[in-house]
Amino acid sequence: MYHFSRSIYRELAPEIIEERDGGTENHERVLRSCEICVERLATDWHYFAKPTKTLFNDIRIYFPMSSQRRVYCVVDRYITFAQEYIATRPADGFDLEGNRLECRATTRRGTPCRRVPLAHNGYCPSHQHLADTERVVLAA
Ligand SMILES: [Zn+2]
Repeated sequence: MYHFSRSIYRELAPEIIEERDGGTENHERVLRSCEICVERLATDWHYFAKPTKTLFNDIRIYFPMSSQRRVYCVVDRYITFAQEYIATRPADGFDLEGNRLECRATTRRGTPCRRVPLAHNGYCPSHQHLADTERVVLAA
């Protein structure tokens, strides 16, 4: 999974604004932002609505005006790759970090539902109707 954040960083590194004192903090911040974004995508992607926009907004200040469009395109390309990768991996009940996946629903008794969720929306088969409700709420 981390090769996605590395790839974004590697493609953009030559365009990062140089610091006046020759420091490398800008580079570290860009790499760190890429890592945080990809990590969140890997572990929390159901709640991560606009990853490209989020990452772009985090790192754009480290690039000159003339690079902004390219930065956005590179970010968007790799985030899309990462999302496709996540969407196609087998639903084995674990996330990319090795944590056990559990259905996102709460049972009638108020305890978390612990069944294995379906990969595309994070709910187990008996809570699929909640995914539909959610789509309506998000669209509103
Ligand atoms: Zn459930």
